[in-house]
Amino acid sequence: MCSLSAVSGIENVEKTLYGLVFSGQNRGDESTGFGILLDNRLEVLKRMKSEGGIIKAYLDLKKEIDGNYIDRGIGQTRYSTSGKSDKRNAQPFKIKGKSEFIISHNGTISNSKELKEKYGLKCFSQSDTEVGGCVIAQEKDLIEGIERLSENAVGAYNLNLLSRDGRVVVFRDPLAFHPLWYGFDENGGLLSASENYPLYAVGCYNPIELKPGEGIIADGKNVEKFSIDSPGKKECFFEVIYFMKPGSSCGGKEVSKIRHEIGSFLGKNEDLKDAIVVPVEDSGSDYAEGFAEASGLELVRGLMKNRGERVYMDPAERSKQNFFSRKEKAKLKHVAIPKKVKDKIVLVIDDSIVRCDTSTGIAENLFATGAKEVHFRIASPPQISGCIYGLDHSKKAELAAAYCTSGSIEDFIAKRTKANSVNYMRLEDLKPVLKDNNDHCFACITGEYPTRVPEECRSAIEL
Ligand code: 5GP
Ligand code: MG
Repeated sequence: MCSLSAVSGIENVEKTLYGLVFSGQNRGDESTGFGILLDNRLEVLKRMKSEGGIIKAYLDLKKEIDGNYIDRGIGQTRYSTSGKSDKRNAQPFKIKGKSEFIISHNGTISNSKELKEKYGLKCFSQSDTEVGGCVIAQEKDLIEGIERLSENAVGAYNLNLLSRDGRVVVFRDPLAFHPLWYGFDENGGLLSASENYPLYAVGCYNPIELKPGEGIIADGKNVEKFSIDSPGKKECFFEVIYFMKPGSSCGGKEVSKIRHEIGSFLGKNEDLKDAIVVPVEDSGSDYAEGFAEASGLELVRGLMKNRGERVYMDPAERSKQNFFSRKEKAKLKHVAIPKKVKDKIVLVIDDSIVRCDTSTGIAENLFATGAKEVHFRIASPPQISGCIYGLDHSKKAELAAAYCTSGSIEDFIAKRTKANSVNYMRLEDLKPVLKDNNDHCFACITGEYPTRVPEECRSAIEL
């Protein structure tokens, strides 16, 4: 997952882009990049987290601008789902074909190998974003390029482009898997970000969500819209469940409110008595509040989170320079507080169980500190199929629940985590909370994909 940011026709470009990118780090922080047009040149500045990340990229940007006046640019923070986490694959990319532009992207183009072959593309990186950019550059006109991409790409591709002639393009893909927003400052300048929360952070309080297939093309303050046919929205349900900031919204749904409601549903139906409700910080916090309110059980912050390191997706793991197992890292990340949990029946509330290392580590920690029982209550159904649209569990083999071949997934995961019980929010109960109108993607929990599954993604559906 990634976070996109774009501005056009505004003052103070570098500080605003920094603010947008800084506030989008919940969607990824492996690398940060900016794209600007200066003296008729397209310039890309990018830094890996290990090179100082966002602040270093900002200082590079400031140095590059060096007091010159610019009023537009784009920014990105990356969480790699296609291609390794290294600088070559960091965004944005400069693309030169029949058109010339800088591109950044959120989502996964899941047939990028096919596209590379079809167009005979020579790419410098392993990134699907570069492939998408090269397809767009088959056309002289940017919008025709985006149309060409939409006709040929399978997957999710929210885009920001900054063209050689200075136009800024913001585009949400026709199935609208992932969120994308824009708004205006008091002088009519355009600001755009993946979520509405970063727009609030820089003082833009009336953001508008792009519709599926909708695009904006801006030249300074001159803004026009375009659109590409959409077969209907298929919003990724996991955005609201996990990825988005609680202060954001999507499709009219406020993220924190939805999480609270899901927690309430689980809490209302809880049979355990004399238990305490312990959130996994931060992903379980809103759910746990709703759960505690509805069940009447006490909310106890019995797990403290060490911040700074990502357990779920640690780039070190991919580069094989990994000295700790995922479970060891989870144990270091979620520390149980003995005074709060000793001799207690603990209901642990989290958004999801994916690979199962986090929950196994948490259960071990809780038992080691004297918890009497550990029960997981999980806000989303088990995932049994890989995501080909931008979540970082693209392979079925990574999904713990996919290995359950007989009996209930609940018992299977309870056994694996050594917890006393596991309960998931069921899909039929989740849909009404999300006000689903057949407009969400649940592929990772049902195995039914809203697009074809390209041959290169077979590992999403086969163990
Ligand atoms: P796991 O079961 O894989 O060890 O960890 C699951 C936890 O990781 C979830 O509770 C959620 O908070 C987080 N998570 C789930 N999916 C993703 C993802 O795609 N990326 C990241 N960074 N975290 C995720
Ligand atoms: Mg979590």
